[in-house]
Amino acid sequence: MRSYEDARDVDHFIHGKRTAGSGTRSRPVFNPATGKPARQLLLGNVADVDTAVRSASQAFPAWSNTPPIRRARIMLKFLELMNRHRDELAAIITAEHGKVFSDAQGEVSRGIDVIEFACGIPQLLKGDYTEQVSTGMDNWTVRQALGVVAGITPFNFPCMVPCWMFPVAIAAGNTFILKPSERDPSASLLMAELLKEAGLPDGVFNVVQGDKEVVDALLQHPEVRAVSFVGSTPIARYIYETGAHYGKRVQALGGAKNHMVVMPDADIDQAVDALVGAGYGSAGERCMAISVAVLVGDVADKIVDKLAERARNLVVGNGMNPASEMGPIVAKEALERIEGYIGLGVEEGAKLVVDGRKFVVDGHEEGFFTGGTLFDHVTPEMRIYKEEIFGPVLACVRVEDFSEAVDLVNAHEFGNGVACYTRDGHIAREFGRRIQVGMVGINVPIPVPMAWHGFGGWKNSLFGDMHAYGEEGVRFYTKQKSIMQRWPESTEKGAEFAMPTAK
Ligand code: NAD
Repeated sequence: MRSYEDARDVDHFIHGKRTAGSGTRSRPVFNPATGKPARQLLLGNVADVDTAVRSASQAFPAWSNTPPIRRARIMLKFLELMNRHRDELAAIITAEHGKVFSDAQGEVSRGIDVIEFACGIPQLLKGDYTEQVSTGMDNWTVRQALGVVAGITPFNFPCMVPCWMFPVAIAAGNTFILKPSERDPSASLLMAELLKEAGLPDGVFNVVQGDKEVVDALLQHPEVRAVSFVGSTPIARYIYETGAHYGKRVQALGGAKNHMVVMPDADIDQAVDALVGAGYGSAGERCMAISVAVLVGDVADKIVDKLAERARNLVVGNGMNPASEMGPIVAKEALERIEGYIGLGVEEGAKLVVDGRKFVVDGHEEGFFTGGTLFDHVTPEMRIYKEEIFGPVLACVRVEDFSEAVDLVNAHEFGNGVACYTRDGHIAREFGRRIQVGMVGINVPIPVPMAWHGFGGWKNSLFGDMHAYGEEGVRFYTKQKSIMQRWPESTEKGAEFAMPTAK
């Protein structure tokens, strides 16, 4: 097992090896459970991006010409290695992100799902063919790789979100540059080393650590053909606009404010379990976390006390402690932002039912902990309703009926995920049809689509027109070419001056 507990710097991975690059800046990577810096991250610069792009450009011709089945075989080997190193990766995630170890294991598994999907690339790249579009003429389409593509990823899934991107991109014949989050960068290096061990040629997958300087260099580099981004909405919008300005294909997934509608006929205990798990799991730092409970009719009177009891009794602690249900917040600034929102909610007039602020875990007094917070009587005008808090803060909004619930969800600027708890088939069907959100769960609180379905929100939760992974991912990382062909023996004689039509 490689040890990431040593004090080694977190550096880059370019052309098949770790390198310090030429950047002069660095920043600490914290263990959020202890609140202490664990290692130092070397921040890349424009020259490091240029070196990585050159390596990826050089690797592209041979890699894109490698038969898809041979690329798939390398993915299969990588799949096997990821399965073998699943717990090691999960421990790295917990050490830098803070989420509980079982949740980190789940994250790695969902990343592995996409690698498994990418192993089917020969089938996914199969084009279509029409014989005899005109007499003696055939027409077919192929999908070809774009070239060098880049992925810029958020802190909250340091393994899974990169896996939404690079397995599909690489299997489709592209070469890839990953710019991981500065907060939890180490998982990227282990994955890079496993890809190399799987037989991936040097330069096909590179990691450049860094911040805005590296991101801007990737966005501006003429040889980067496409950029996939996942992160907050203001940065997603910036990436989309800047990438488009530089002529790149861009998919930029942004922030969220996911609602769960609870109908009066729902199984209340199931709804409580769902709200507690999806609201407080991973300390609410999931783009599919439920942050708003929309309580229809008399549901609030049946559910708020139960939610309060569960929120008060959450087991909060170091993510490596198997008893912990919720770990720390990723960073001190994030903790301060979340607790600032709780203060704001009180000022705005929401009822603070459970206050998670200033939570102290024995033996981890410096850790970035907060408890579960529950608000009731939140209204749509409040900032704690409108803005993404990205922490373990659940806001209850009371509405009269189903239509009001649907209108509320549809009026929100975000449209990532949503859930409806009901036993009524007609309500379930209407909800699925009318709701303006990209990913919908009926009695499923976190409806993250499986690897072959594709992931993406609507409205300000996604800029661009294609979702991540699944067949949309394959489309994003390839361009279509149509070829029409006939042979001299079947060619009609004479020049044609009218628009050709089927003959
Ligand atoms: P973030 O937007 O702060 O950072 C994401 C990436 O952008 C990081 O790699 C970061 O280095 C880079 N970045 C940050 N500021 C930048 C700037 N000014 N210019 C250029 N690059 C910049 O997001 P985060 O805090 O790491 O992650 C949490 C956010 O991600 C939440 O808003 C969450 O909803 C969102 N998210 C969305 C999805 C989704 O699928 N829609 C999935 C996961 C997370």
